Amino acid sequence: MKIMHQTWTLFKVVASLSSLALLTSVSGLNSLAAEESEKKKPTGYTNTPFIPGSKWRVHDDNRPRPKVVSPGRTSSTPPADAVILFDGTDLSKWRNAKGGSAKWIVENGYMQVPSEKERKGDIFTKEVFGDFQLHVEFATPAKVLSNSQGRGNSGVIIFGRYEVQVLDSYNNKTYADGQTSALYGWKPPLVNASRPSGEWQTYDIIFEAPKWNDDGKLVKKAYTTVLHNGVLTQHRQAFQGDTLHKKPAKYVRHAAQGPIKLQDHSNPMRFRNIWIRSLDLSIHDN
Ligand code: MG
Repeated sequence: MKIMHQTWTLFKVVASLSSLALLTSVSGLNSLAAEESEKKKPTGYTNTPFIPGSKWRVHDDNRPRPKVVSPGRTSSTPPADAVILFDGTDLSKWRNAKGGSAKWIVENGYMQVPSEKERKGDIFTKEVFGDFQLHVEFATPAKVLSNSQGRGNSGVIIFGRYEVQVLDSYNNKTYADGQTSALYGWKPPLVNASRPSGEWQTYDIIFEAPKWNDDGKLVKKAYTTVLHNGVLTQHRQAFQGDTLHKKPAKYVRHAAQGPIKLQDHSNPMRFRNIWIRSLDLSIHDN
């Protein structure tokens, strides 16, 4: 009986070992087959026609592949190549208009514009940028104390010149070119995608810096695309120049790069999770 039991156990061991070997060899064969079929796919072509106006052929195998950027966990989380402008802890990346320290309140993971009595003024990034993609989150005051332009007014003022308006535009009748995500004084947003007062909202702003030639002639306007809470509100819209109040905008020549300014409009606006990616749009020129 004992011998029979031992033989049976031995048989089971041999059987399981051989099925394991079989499985391993089958999966080995499978991955080999997958590799083989992968190898058969061309990675590109060198005999296709040229793309009109381009030095590259259609599906050109010699065309440089894009640089890899590790994305964030969500579209609000900074990707690997982003410069973090505010992570909820301090204003070390910001300054005031005179170059001194930025004095807005920092608490609970956000920055807040101080009260009107303790007004500290606009703040600017210390670093300057050219073409970029900017992510900003903001919350207007939960308690509505005023109306029109007095409700949660601030602004993302690119280069300190081109304002993408920030306002509490939730059930707020104010002029169209002053609503949130308007290019202030010029283009209303395509739609009003505002969340209720006090809720966190997002801006994703893509900006192309204007260009002047050596003679001082404007050869490219400033363009911007804005997604407000993930909804497109400005589509590669040209600015008409430096944003002004009650007057049409006007271009004033400036350097190729500039800071991002957040406006102190005396309303206790909150901002958090601000990051920026510089863009090399020239990659698409060739
Ligand atoms: Mg404003």
